[in-house]
Amino acid sequence: MDFFIQDLKTVLKADFVCDEILEVVDIADVSIDSRSLRNNNNTLFFAIQGQNFDAHLFIEDLISKGIRYFVVQKIPQNLETKAVFFVVDDSLKAFQDFVAFYRSKFDFPVIGITGSNGKTIVKEWLNFLLSSDFTIIKSPKSYNSQVGVPLSVIAINENHNLGIFEAGISLPNEMDALERIIQPNIGILTSIGSAHDEGFQNREQKILEKLKLFKNVDVLICESNQEVLKLISSKAKLLTWSFKNEGNINFNLIKVDVLEVSSDFGNFEIKIPFVDKSSLQNIATCVSILLYLNIPITDIQKRIANLYRVEMRLQIKNGIQNCTIIDDSYSSDYQSLKIALDVLENHKTHENKTVILSDIFQSGFDENVLYAKVEKLLLGNKIHRVFAIGNKIKNHLSQLENVIRFDSTQDFLFHFKDEDFANETILLKGARSFEFEKIVALLEEKKHETVLEINLDAVTHNLNFYKSKLKPETKIMVMVKAFGYGNGSFEIAKLLQHHKVDYLGVAFADEGVELRNAGITMPIIVMNPENSAFSTMIAYHLEPEIYGISELNAFIKVAQSHNLYKYPIHLKLNTGMNRLGFVQQNFDELIPILKASNLLEVKSIFSHLATSDMPEEIDFTHEQLKKFKLWSNELIHKLDINPIRHILNTSGIYNFSGHQYEMVRVGIGLYGVGNDVFEDEQLQNVATLKTLILQINEVQIGESVGYGRRFVANRKSKIATIPIGYADGIRRAWGNEVGYVIINNKKAAIVGAICMDMMMIDVTEIDCEIGTEVLIFGEQLRVTEIAKFWNTIPYEVMTGISQRVKRIFYKE
Ligand SMILES: *Cc1c(COP(=O)(O)O)cnc(C)c1O
Repeated sequence: MDFFIQDLKTVLKADFVCDEILEVVDIADVSIDSRSLRNNNNTLFFAIQGQNFDAHLFIEDLISKGIRYFVVQKIPQNLETKAVFFVVDDSLKAFQDFVAFYRSKFDFPVIGITGSNGKTIVKEWLNFLLSSDFTIIKSPKSYNSQVGVPLSVIAINENHNLGIFEAGISLPNEMDALERIIQPNIGILTSIGSAHDEGFQNREQKILEKLKLFKNVDVLICESNQEVLKLISSKAKLLTWSFKNEGNINFNLIKVDVLEVSSDFGNFEIKIPFVDKSSLQNIATCVSILLYLNIPITDIQKRIANLYRVEMRLQIKNGIQNCTIIDDSYSSDYQSLKIALDVLENHKTHENKTVILSDIFQSGFDENVLYAKVEKLLLGNKIHRVFAIGNKIKNHLSQLENVIRFDSTQDFLFHFKDEDFANETILLKGARSFEFEKIVALLEEKKHETVLEINLDAVTHNLNFYKSKLKPETKIMVMVKAFGYGNGSFEIAKLLQHHKVDYLGVAFADEGVELRNAGITMPIIVMNPENSAFSTMIAYHLEPEIYGISELNAFIKVAQSHNLYKYPIHLKLNTGMNRLGFVQQNFDELIPILKASNLLEVKSIFSHLATSDMPEEIDFTHEQLKKFKLWSNELIHKLDINPIRHILNTSGIYNFSGHQYEMVRVGIGLYGVGNDVFEDEQLQNVATLKTLILQINEVQIGESVGYGRRFVANRKSKIATIPIGYADGIRRAWGNEVGYVIINNKKAAIVGAICMDMMMIDVTEIDCEIGTEVLIFGEQLRVTEIAKFWNTIPYEVMTGISQRVKRIFYKE
């Protein structure tokens, strides 16, 4: 796109700073992500500033990579003459303005979807249902925020003839901006639930805010619901649906899986693939739109019967032969391929990146143009190997070196060999009809069905929560010892490295070695360095905690033999914990040793609080804090150094944030467990332990269950067996009807003794079958609760989950 500078200035409402004479600029792409490998010279980069993030920091780096055009709130020092800058008050707003301007150049039907639940599912379903009639541009995934919406809309091109975009809000006054960008002419309101209620005074305010999306639509399609209808003032035509015969289009469930539809458009029946309540609502919404768009009834019937379950999340899984799998196999449009490749770059565990890719439908591009673009993307992202599956894609990608081609998924599966995949990160991206889940099943590491799901977005949220308690300049060290408190160290570390956390803390050297081998380059402190591991630590640049004279001398010896110069060490002070560390009496011996040579540098001085979570021990904590101040001052003074000081752990940050010094050490809080219920409320649950029902037995009155016959049925019972036991980290004391698990939001008591690898649960009153998901802990039953019952602390429950339980990482 060529722009006159003058026009661009007007659209962006910007001041223009550039030391050459420019009249026209050619903008090939816009970006807000400095990490995207696609950023090229003609990218217009919007440096957006968030609460915990400032893209201005990356401008220098981007300039060195050749990018020339920037929209900024301030020009970083010394860069004034190095690029072309548009200076604005608010870069996010300028980005939105730019996209709104871009959107206004297109004139075709655009569906705007909002509501509390079902937005993404309705959008994905409509995309599927309408794909044979239109060339559709839609929001990738749930890109529905102030940033996500413009990122979605900017991808429109001249070939599209239908848009489907979702808009999500969490605060008042957010919808106007989204309306301006999407400019919908068909509106869909999905169900109004309680999601994000906290941002609003009341439900009415929330509904009114959502309705702003429909300010200018020709038709609004929604449920016939008095609470909502009474608030609609827009002149737009309403098309309502109802399960209570109150709408323009009425639905009746006449069999378990058959809906009767009656309306002015005609009366007919449809067979439905899903029968739960929210699916029914989403189906009603979709059918209404199809009718409104005059899709023939026989087509509606056929297409609805083929609806599929929308997998909302991209999953990161352990694969065979040490592979990492990024499973994004439910959609394959060009836009979401771009996003998935960024995810691949940011989460790759291995140097080698492989992409398994199907034909791409619905791009809006001519076939040759499309695959040329795909090829450019793959080249730009330095993909080592591509499996191209499908009749179309297999005829393209001729400039890529390593492409293996298949006609169909069937064909791929037929030729599949385990040994073809090892030590690489594999991204799977396939259109629905290619059923890539069959490929995922082969590539996935085979472990039993019990999994610990780790929500990486929740980790980010929790990190930001603690950041918000700190001064912006305070450094953060995150403890990832004990396999990230049981949550998986590598994935968490990778995320933290991305968020520019300053230090990682591990317990033992080998944990640090593993992180290094997996590509973690940020500083790592080893808390319990053993003398035998000193050489290894140096080889992997791991920094030791030094807690005693004999350890220090041993490290110095190794340091001499390696000819080190100012190797970073971290002095631990024992201010009251009486675990490890120097006390003041050691200083006379310690100081001369440190002064004697340049081998080591005291990078930090720290101590650890014993009672930061106990209000009743506040005097003791103050005593520790006082000693730390005094002793660290003495060392700084006598050694004439300027180290980082740190003493606060998670509950320390929460309760004593005045003592944050230059750094804090976050542990348990990052993993979603706070000090008390108030803190817990502000954290998001990170780990969910779940499994599946293996078998269900009918047990008659008087019959027993399990070892020692510890459960005897006093009623006719349905007893389910699940594959998790004490070897997975479940306390045996949790058996015999003390504890419970959760199935479909209902409690199922654990009956009889917990076995090594299995346990039995009473599901007499629960609707379930073989394969039904069983929750052990997670959002609905927090680890903190379980720890209370087990008479222990959440740390022990979390770190006790056996390594044989498969970890799955995901993000929205
Ligand atoms: C484990 C650990 C932490 C983190 O403690 P949390 O209570 O989990 O925040 C901090 N400092 C040291 C020295 C630790 O060993």
